[in-house]
Amino acid sequence: MASVLLSVNQVSKSYGARKAVDGVSFQVQQGQTVGLIGPNGAGKSTTVGMICGLLSADSGGIVMDGAPIGQGSSEAKRKIGFVPQDLALYDDLSSLENLKLFGALYGLKGALLKQRCEQALALVNLADRANDQPSTYSGGMKRRLNIAAALLHDPQLLILDEPTVGVDPQSRNAIFDTLETLKAQGRSLIYTSHYMEEVERLADHIVIIDHGKVLADETPAALYRRLPAQAALRAELAAAPSAALLSGVQAQPGVTGVQGEGNALDIGLADAAHAPAVLAWLVQQGTPLLHFATAKTSLENIFLNLTGRSLRD
Ligand code: ADP
Repeated sequence: MASVLLSVNQVSKSYGARKAVDGVSFQVQQGQTVGLIGPNGAGKSTTVGMICGLLSADSGGIVMDGAPIGQGSSEAKRKIGFVPQDLALYDDLSSLENLKLFGALYGLKGALLKQRCEQALALVNLADRANDQPSTYSGGMKRRLNIAAALLHDPQLLILDEPTVGVDPQSRNAIFDTLETLKAQGRSLIYTSHYMEEVERLADHIVIIDHGKVLADETPAALYRRLPAQAALRAELAAAPSAALLSGVQAQPGVTGVQGEGNALDIGLADAAHAPAVLAWLVQQGTPLLHFATAKTSLENIFLNLTGRSLRD
């Protein structure tokens, strides 16, 4: 069994009267990727700030590889790499020179510093742009340079705070490729996001946080089992469905929920196997069906289930 690398124990933090983090606990195992998900203002940044030792907890404690994270520099903190959303980069220096500065802050020098900078740039796929200034980079490339900077001291745990915010889809994929490589190398990751599909793609374990509290701490498969609908069916009709049709659909075997949206019906199913009978029933009602599609329900719905609201407004 994997061993515990990071243990967050009942940490709380207030800003004035506002409780940003309220008794949060979770663990990261060696080699595990944990997705920390919640809407804006949920307390994700404050939580990761405390893990990195950038913010002090009002109560509770954090243990990294057996040693407590405190204030000031420590061996425990050196085992963590942090990728903030924005990093202060010197625009008149090349990316390589910027990285050398970051590496020097960690006490790296000489051949080791050069080697780590080159390795990190290669990993984030920026080796061919090493001598260009970050001001010539796209938003996504700057984000990848931030990841490279956080890897120079070879941390066991890499923490990324919403690394895809403001990044185009192509760069998002490049960031994911980098993170998948890091995962395959056996590094542990904490990834914060308010996009469930991003967390789902990477995470072995998902921690859902809202109003500073942990609402769920499970594998994606366990979260899926909590969803009332395992599959979804979307049917486009010629006209908006009547209330009678909606309640008729709701009464069909295997239907867990139904919603009308314009001329479409969104139907939740306990299992995809119920889809043909539901479609046949719709046709029997004399309802012209223009188009239908089936889908696996998304974990995005789990947040709605837990809180009664969606992850994003
Ligand atoms: P998230 O990262 O999930 O968006 P944050 O940890 O940034 O959430 O914020 C949690 C709560 O704490 C929010 O209500 C936010 O407004 C508040 N908060 C965060 N940082 C500060 C700060 N420096 N001063 C006052 N309130 C803050």
